[in-house]
This record gives sequence, structure tokens and C-alpha cells, in this order.
Amino acid sequence: MRLPAFEYLEPRDRQEALDYLARYSENASILAGGSDLLVRMKQRLVRTSYVISLKHLKDLDGIRPDEDGRLCLGSNTPLVSIIRSPLLQGAYRGLTDAIRRIGAPPIQHYRGTIGGNLCLETRCLYYNQSAFWRSGRPRCQKDGGEICYAEENSDRCRSANVSDGACALMALDAEIVLESREGERSLPIEEFFTGKGESPFARSPDELVTTIRLPAPETAFGSSFRKLTYRSAIDFALVSASAGVKVEAGRIARARIAVGGAGAAPLLLREASEKLLGKSPEDGDAVAETAAQAGRHAAAFMVDNLGATLEYRQKMAAVLVRKAVQEALARAENGNARGRRER
Ligand SMILES: Cc1cc2nc3c(=O)[nH]c(=O)nc-3n(C[C@H](O)[C@H](O)[C@H](O)COP(=O)(O)OP(=O)(O)OC[C@H]3O[C@@H](n4cnc5c(N)ncnc54)[C@H](O)[C@@H]3O)c2cc1C
Ligand code: SF4
Repeated sequence: MRLPAFEYLEPRDRQEALDYLARYSENASILAGGSDLLVRMKQRLVRTSYVISLKHLKDLDGIRPDEDGRLCLGSNTPLVSIIRSPLLQGAYRGLTDAIRRIGAPPIQHYRGTIGGNLCLETRCLYYNQSAFWRSGRPRCQKDGGEICYAEENSDRCRSANVSDGACALMALDAEIVLESREGERSLPIEEFFTGKGESPFARSPDELVTTIRLPAPETAFGSSFRKLTYRSAIDFALVSASAGVKVEAGRIARARIAVGGAGAAPLLLREASEKLLGKSPEDGDAVAETAAQAGRHAAAFMVDNLGATLEYRQKMAAVLVRKAVQEALARAENGNARGRRER
């Protein structure tokens, strides 16, 4: 498959990139590592006149704490730097686990960035196909048509967010910083996603994601990520789950569970997560059942649009959420024990 014609732009700094975005707006696409964008361009799923490369924007690459102790991940930070960063090995292991599961080492080491992963377009079995494959029948809603093959009579596109990093960042309560020529704004990660398959991000065409901010790390906090795939590499998630929990005085004090592959945004199970609060991690059965219930709740949001039967993915959602919560709790308790030893 060949790339269609486009004009390639290489801004030398952030201001020039923002100027191009303001000028070309909907007609431009941002190129980070290109591991998703170029595939979609070849499949004619993206029709763009200008491609704006971020390769010279060195200030978007790096992981630094800010003055409040929050961790700021530059959007153009390569995935391998996330995996290797000592700053992300404790409370944020859920994120490094997720990034390690993206594609395969060549994508993690040479191409993919955290910003590109966060902005990964939603996917669907009936849409992420070659132009030739799709030409055999009328266009679906995400492709500019009127029908949906995944769910009959659906009035909207039900494609799924299967970004591993986005699912983990949702459980970690990340904040997304966007910049345009008009200025900067930041959004809680749940507001960065619209929940609409046709246009999944609350990002204006002239905006660049510059930073992903994580709350200041705490020793009593643990996180985890689980993903179901047929193969151990290359495959996108059939369903995934991530959990972030804080354990204080032997009780769960904070919990945030997210599920991937269950809607156009990583699904934040806010109410289901709250049911874990006050429980003791020692009470393994009650915690496991509450977590599995949360996963069963997520199953209701799934449709039959990824490469496994809906029933299998729905059942596995409960399993993955339970495992993610249990692992996050074990990590939070290890963090607590380490904290006590160091005092
Ligand atoms: C074989 C294969 C397997 C894969 N497996 C997985 C997987 O298992 N899990 C997974 O999550 N992903 C997977 N991917 C998708 C992709 O490789 C990763 O998500 C990667 O992290 C994308 O990063 P990138 O820098 O290459 O993004 P790009 O392709 O450059 O960009 C992706 C999207 O983000 C937008 N974008 C990039 N940076 C910014 C920014 N700063 N501001 C605003 N918009 C921006 C681009 O315009 C584009 O729409 C796979 C891809 C391939 C080819
Ligand atoms: S969910 Fe429906 S509209 Fe959306 S990409 Fe799939 S088939 Fe198309």
C-alpha cells in the first residue's frame, strides 16, 4: 500500500508547529512516530493535505517532575523512555506495564510516542481495513457513511479505544495539557475523550497535546495493567483493564479502574471503583468479587467489533479487572512496607 500525496512540514520549534496547525487546521495531521498515522493514511482512513512532523520539537521529549511533584511526560517522549524511566517504576508501574504491551519492541524502541498512543484513533474490525476491502460495501459512519456494521441501527459509531497507554493513564488520573496559538489549557483525562467513535478527542484541530501530567507519586499507591490478546506481541487489545489504588491504614482509600475496548474512550468505572473503598486488601474474596463485578459492569458497554466474540471479551473483562485490582493492591502494600522500612 502506498501513501497518498501530501505536503510534509517540519517545524523547527513549537511556535512554528502551532502556526502551521492554526493555518492548516482540519487539513493537517500531526506526525509523531507515525506508527499509527501512516498506516491509516495508507488505508485511506485519513485524508490529509499537510503532515506536520514533531521531530524537531525536542522540548516535547522528556519526563520531569514539576514544582508540585507531579510528573510531566512530554507528548513526544518515545515509548522506550517511559518503559525505562526510574521515575515511573514505583507507583506508576501500571503505565510501564501497559507501554511494554504496545505492539512489539520495534514500535516501542524506534517509533511510538506516548502522545501518539494517547491520541490513537478508535478501532473497529469493519473500519481498520484496506480501502479495497472497504470498497465492497457502503461506507460506515466513521468512514463518512450512514450505517454501522458493528451494531445494527446504531445512531453513532461504536468503535473502541484500544490504546494501552490511555487505559493506564485513565486509571492514574492523568491530566492532558493542550496548546494552540491562543494559549494553553489542561483537561482531566476523562474530559479529553468525547466518547464518540466518529470524533473521539476533545482536541481542536489547531491544538497540540504537549504534556501528560501525572499526580505526585505516593508510596502507598499501586497500579497495574492487564490486556487480552491472542498473541503476546503485535496485537491490539481485545479488552484491557487498569487499576490504581491507594492503601492507607490497612484499608483501600482510593481506587480508579479503567477498561479498554469498551467504548470510544477508556471506560472509567467510577461508581464500581468506589465500592472498593474501605475494604481491607486482606479480605481477598470480597475485594476479588467487587472488582469482578466492576468488570461485568464494563461488559455492558462492549459491542462486537474487535477480533474475538463479544461473549468471550465480556467474560474476560471481569477477569482482567479482578487481576488488575489484585496486582495494584499488592504493589500498594509493597510500597507501604518499603515506606515503613525507610522511615
Ligand atoms: C503492528 C502494530 C501494532 C500495534 N499495537 C498496538 C498495541 O498493542 N497497543 C497500542 O496502544 N497501540 C498499538 N499500535 C499503535 C501505535 O503504534 C501506538 O499507539 C503508538 O504509541 C503510536 O504512537 P506514534 O508516535 O507512532 O503515533 P502517530 O502514528 O504519529 O500518531 C497517532 C495519532 O496521534 C496523533 N498525535 C500524535 N502526537 C500528537 C500530539 N502531540 N498532539 C495531538 N495529536 C497527536 C496523530 O496525528 C495521529 O492521529 C500498533 C501499531 C502497529 C503498526
Ligand atoms: S462501530 Fe460501526 S460506524 Fe464505527 S467504525 Fe465500526 S462499523 Fe463503522
